[in-house]
Amino acid sequence: MPEEFELINRYFTTTKQRSDVIFGIGDDCALVQVPANQQLAITTDTLVAGVHFPHQTAAEHIGHKAAAVNLSDLAAMGATPAWATLALTLPEADTQWLEDFSRGFFSLLNQYNVQLIGGDTSRGPLTITIAAYGFVSPGQALLRSGAKVGDKIYVTGDLGDAALALHFNSSTKAIAQLQQKLDCPQPRIAMGIALRDIASAAIDISDGLAADLGHILNASKVGAHINVVDLPQSSALQTLIKAGKISKEQAYQAALTGGDDYELCFTVPLAKEAALQQQLSVLNCVCHCIGVIEDQPGLRIYDAVGAALSLAKSGFQHF
Ligand code: ADP
Ligand code: MG
Repeated sequence: MPEEFELINRYFTTTKQRSDVIFGIGDDCALVQVPANQQLAITTDTLVAGVHFPHQTAAEHIGHKAAAVNLSDLAAMGATPAWATLALTLPEADTQWLEDFSRGFFSLLNQYNVQLIGGDTSRGPLTITIAAYGFVSPGQALLRSGAKVGDKIYVTGDLGDAALALHFNSSTKAIAQLQQKLDCPQPRIAMGIALRDIASAAIDISDGLAADLGHILNASKVGAHINVVDLPQSSALQTLIKAGKISKEQAYQAALTGGDDYELCFTVPLAKEAALQQQLSVLNCVCHCIGVIEDQPGLRIYDAVGAALSLAKSGFQHF
């Protein structure tokens, strides 16, 4: 891009300066200092227009969401976020779009004291690739592989709103709340950090609970039993169910197989239950127990009358 340097200067040079960034944007590489005795957690996620978000999504929301989905992976690992890089592919250098995108992007980064330290800018179909970097003490990262038989399964927040938002064109207050969950997911950073000493396994729910809990079960070589009546529903979703806009069945299926929730799913040994409750009150975070880890492999899902439930489809299909 001919105007690449000007564009980077204008929209992506940051005033925020962390002391562990020796050199940020402007040279061939960024130079950073990982704190002594910390491990570096690294994650990257790409958002493609028309695939990961609707083409008409507001630029500010795209900026927020691209940062949020990456920070959500750090949260699921129990890492403290520190740095990010941004590879931006744009069909054109639209200044209004860039201004809005960078506002959404930096407002989330600043909220978690994350510094943008580099990236790349090129022309092509709208695609945003972010890498996020965070710290965790050796042995404290939340892996998918630690769930044990008898552990309780928890999720933060509510499930299904983001996927259901895609069903509506019109907007009521309740639909706007679903839309907010789709456009502006909040990464569960504080909860991830609090779970370091509590959870036996964790993952963030990006592809639907069934698929993502399935990753914990496979990695941990265990199975699980969950009840759909325990799946947490937002007040907006409950309003839409009461109004007949969404069926109970659609709500369950969205929670189990819809994507884009960006809540944490984690497992907790009985001995850590009290510590979990204490952390939840400190953080003012709502979590719900949705089931239990079992020896028999596979995920068993039961409906309100205890009948086995099958899924419409399992998780967001990437290909
Ligand atoms: P190079 O050709 O060496 O890859 P670039 O011209 O791509 O260098 O980038 C110059 C500097 O600007 C580098 O420090 C790079 O990290 C940074 N940069 C480029 N694009 C972005 C972006 N979208 N966001 C943040 N930093 C960027
Ligand atoms: Mg480059």
